[in-house]
Amino acid sequence: QVPLKPGRSLMDWIRLTKSGKDLTGLKGRLVEVTEDELAKHNKKEDCWICIRGFVYNVTPYMEYHPGGEDELMKAAGTDGTDLFDQVHRWVNYESMLKECLVGRMAVKPIAAPKEMKAVAYIVFLQQIPEDETILCMKTFITKYIMVCSKKVYIFFFTVFLFYSYDWFQTDSLITIVVYTKQKAKLVIVDCQDKRLRGEIVIDDHSYLVEVDLYHAVQEDLAVNITEKVGKVEIILKKKENIHWKILGQPLENHNTFIKRTDRGLFYRKCKLVSKTEVTHDTKLFCLMLPKSTHLHVPTGQHVYLKQIIAGTEVVKPYTPVLPSLPLDFKEPSCHDGAHIYLMIKIYSCGPFTQALEHLQVGDYISVSNPEGNFKKSQVQTSEDLFLLAAGTGFTPMVKLLDFALTEVSCLRTVKLIFFNKTEDDILWRNQLEQLALKDKRFEVKFILSQPTKDWVGKEGKISSSLLSEFVKRSRKDSKVLICICGPTPFTEQGVQYLKDLGYSQEEIHAFTA
Ligand code: FAD
Ligand code: NAD
Repeated sequence: QVPLKPGRSLMDWIRLTKSGKDLTGLKGRLVEVTEDELAKHNKKEDCWICIRGFVYNVTPYMEYHPGGEDELMKAAGTDGTDLFDQVHRWVNYESMLKECLVGRMAVKPIAAPKEMKAVAYIVFLQQIPEDETILCMKTFITKYIMVCSKKVYIFFFTVFLFYSYDWFQTDSLITIVVYTKQKAKLVIVDCQDKRLRGEIVIDDHSYLVEVDLYHAVQEDLAVNITEKVGKVEIILKKKENIHWKILGQPLENHNTFIKRTDRGLFYRKCKLVSKTEVTHDTKLFCLMLPKSTHLHVPTGQHVYLKQIIAGTEVVKPYTPVLPSLPLDFKEPSCHDGAHIYLMIKIYSCGPFTQALEHLQVGDYISVSNPEGNFKKSQVQTSEDLFLLAAGTGFTPMVKLLDFALTEVSCLRTVKLIFFNKTEDDILWRNQLEQLALKDKRFEVKFILSQPTKDWVGKEGKISSSLLSEFVKRSRKDSKVLICICGPTPFTEQGVQYLKDLGYSQEEIHAFTA
């Protein structure tokens, strides 16, 4: 983030888009844009960018871009989709930039690619009814075609040979089975108004079953994951005991296996169940997932919340925590997978958190699928774990602490170094101190940047000397993992200091968007 000029906040931008001003310079006309035309608009005072085939005139948005003008200029006059996806694919640009829409990119005529013909042949072969001999011939010809076309080989290998689904029924149940053949990292299922969406994440790819079901099902569904054989079962309860002829009508992305980052974010509405105070400005929001949703947010990952603010959809990331720290007041009923807990700081001039502050118990809010690149295996092989957190950068450390202290037996030390402005800002201070008393492996250090006179603890901001004092291997060659999260400058400086102190890239994990 860069500091924005006064009058250039998100709310100012929303107001400008609603003012009726012609932001594209085309008086509401939509045009077809060629590559040559797009390339001409590559200056700060005349800047067009293409995202997913749509061209936007972002010139009026320049001064409002939270990442700064220079970041936006990187894509000036070009297709910025990849750059956009790398930095913030979750930002709902369609809504934020709708008044800047110039039109679509003109489609270039392309010769039917070789691969398309190969795919057509294979699909044709799949239609032929089979006995043993025909099956052998079909397999041989399919393989021959695939060897001739590498792209088709990769496509079929991943989609048809490796991932597919099957379904069967009893009088009362529908079971959908997907053989993943390896451990599924994440299984997310939503079923609303007969629309079933089951996403299975395997490494950095995602397989999707997405159908409009043949008949209605009951609200509650079950998901069984058999890790050993790599099997995922989604079990639905029929509303009526009738025989289903088909599972349902396939929807657009049904039976696809693509990179996880190429899938759009999926949201479901969750009910706010409670909102409790954590500190003077931070609250714990408990959201209830719909009964027909199966979703566990993995350790180290975040979700996106979506709200309509002054008529514009706005999205922000938040990292789910637990209702409380481990080994403390465990509340199994709340730890059941049906609730998501978010610890959120309310900023007096933050439009998104102000809207959250006004959310009432019983209201609904859209919550996305989880994202993030933290791997639990990074902790599983560590002997010393250091957690450097600043302010709400504490949130990813909560599940991480729980996981480390309850499931990782090789860990000898777990140390949280928690940076805050004042004592009043420290999140869950009591719980952390109790946890340190209960578990000898765990230690917590509080460091304040704006303490009052009576603070007897450490004072300061992240620095090389503070880190060399607190981050030390318990043995000369012990395996260490250092996780860091907080305001961007805090995280960036921290990573640099750690590298200067001799820690390798593999020993550091920085939580970012
Ligand atoms: P903003 O408008 O973003 O303002 C917040 C503060 O920053 C205000 O004080 C404002 O004055 C200042 N500010 C705004 N823009 C700028 C700028 N350009 N330059 C300098 N200062 C500026 N937050 C949590 O509370 N809990 C979480 O669990 C959590 N998880 C997160 C996970 C990830 C992956 C990321 C990236 C962020 C997370 N955040 C979390 C932060 C959260 O996404 C929002 O940024 C935050 O809630 C503020 O949103 P807002 O719109 O209310 O305020
Ligand atoms: P804050 O303003 O209360 O500051 C907390 C501490 O951070 C300060 O006491 C100071 O030690 C340090 N700090 C602040 N600004 C700094 C700077 N410029 N340089 C060095 N150190 C600095 O923090 P907050 O309001 O609670 O903000 C927390 C931040 O953490 C937000 O920016 C949020 O987006 C981020 N966050 C990120 C993730 C993630 O990426 N996964 C998760 C949660 C929170």
